[in-house]
Amino acid sequence: MKEYDQVRDQLIDMLEELDVRLSKITNEVKHPEEPVSQDFEEQASQVENDQVLDFLGNAARVEIEQIRHAIARIDNGEYGDCEVCGEAINPERLKAVPFTKMCIKCASAIK
Ligand SMILES: [Zn+2]
Repeated sequence: MKEYDQVRDQLIDMLEELDVRLSKITNEVKHPEEPVSQDFEEQASQVENDQVLDFLGNAARVEIEQIRHAIARIDNGEYGDCEVCGEAINPERLKAVPFTKMCIKCASAIK
């Protein structure tokens, strides 16, 4: 599987970055050192902030899943083939989105 060694390294780097990002987000969501604010407006903006962080956290989790999946596919030799139609994914597309699991045709059919 030498062919995708570099991609694999790149994916692992991305994974580490996301892990760091996610733990930062998770820490902010918890904000345990902050006392509960008595001010209503402040509380409201706190909730809003938490929702944004939640959203970012979920996005990071989805991305982590996709990257882990891509690494598993490199390891079992399926990487580079579209999961829907089985055809080879355009190398340019793989370069741009290394954790993609669909060719451009199938991906745009879903949207
Ligand atoms: Zn396809």
